[in-house]
Amino acid sequence: MSREKLRKLGLDLPLFPTSTVGSFPKPDYLVEARAKATRNAITRAELDGLERRATEFWIRLQEELEVDVLVDGEQYRGDMVAYFAETLGGFSRGGLVRSYGNRYYHKPVITGEVRWPGPVTVDWWRWTQSLTSRPVKGMLTGPYTIMDWSFNDHYPDRKAACLALAREVRKELEALLEAGAKIVQIDEPALSVRPEELPFAVEAMHTAVDGLSAYYIVHACFVAFDTIYPGLLDLPVDNLDLAISHSALDLLATFEKDPFTKDLSLGVLDVHSHVVESVDEVRGRIRRGAGVLPADRIWVDPDCGLKTRTVEESRGKLAAMMAAVRSARTEAG
Ligand SMILES: [Zn+2]
Repeated sequence: MSREKLRKLGLDLPLFPTSTVGSFPKPDYLVEARAKATRNAITRAELDGLERRATEFWIRLQEELEVDVLVDGEQYRGDMVAYFAETLGGFSRGGLVRSYGNRYYHKPVITGEVRWPGPVTVDWWRWTQSLTSRPVKGMLTGPYTIMDWSFNDHYPDRKAACLALAREVRKELEALLEAGAKIVQIDEPALSVRPEELPFAVEAMHTAVDGLSAYYIVHACFVAFDTIYPGLLDLPVDNLDLAISHSALDLLATFEKDPFTKDLSLGVLDVHSHVVESVDEVRGRIRRGAGVLPADRIWVDPDCGLKTRTVEESRGKLAAMMAAVRSARTEAG
């Protein structure tokens, strides 16, 4: 089903298409430059040049490893919600809060009508795509997660804020598709925060994507899967990307009970571990996935963005993933 959609979009991907979730580590020179930029010690243009240099490095590395669907590596982003909130109108910057372990961020505050300011990610997407003949994913943070990770001082309730954001995310999506993006990943790690809100998270996704032709992946790494499955399948997208490197067996048992109806990106690398997985280990995870879903509905990727790993760990993990995929392809004939 989705294979056909991919073909219609002009994408001929191999069995077990490979990709990564979005972020890659920033090289030291870029970390230093970003710190300097906050003190106005270098210009925006200088920082931009270094962000491009780092982006190009990651594109070349993904090509060298033969990853099928590339990402720009998010070298220009800090936090995934703040990045959008700081560009959308209607937000102001809040105080530092802690969330998800040791992650600190300025929790944005919705203080007025949220407003798309014009293309946010499109220039980066277009430039990155110009560097490679492989497809580059468009990358957006989903309306539910932007709402959940922000304070709302403007809309009457969470649903109203979420749907308003969905209308603005849709404008960014339209701009991305107009620029030529065919595969778009929408990050929704907050999806299971309040399972009772899943229906309006689904409604928001309809608002964002209905009638806009692309292959959609929703990445949902912090999701407490059992609380929102099978309702999660109501999301109007093609592929669900779930962090299952640890809990593959449990999840796959769930699928046996309530059949999984979409393509699945099987997060086979643990991005929170320094340890580089062996090819056999990754191969085993792919085999388990293929035991429950038809092989032609399975994509293979890490279980989240690799930004907290080192450059060398990222390279090692991806190399193991690609070797395992090559072996799985051979085995499947
Ligand atoms: Zn993630």
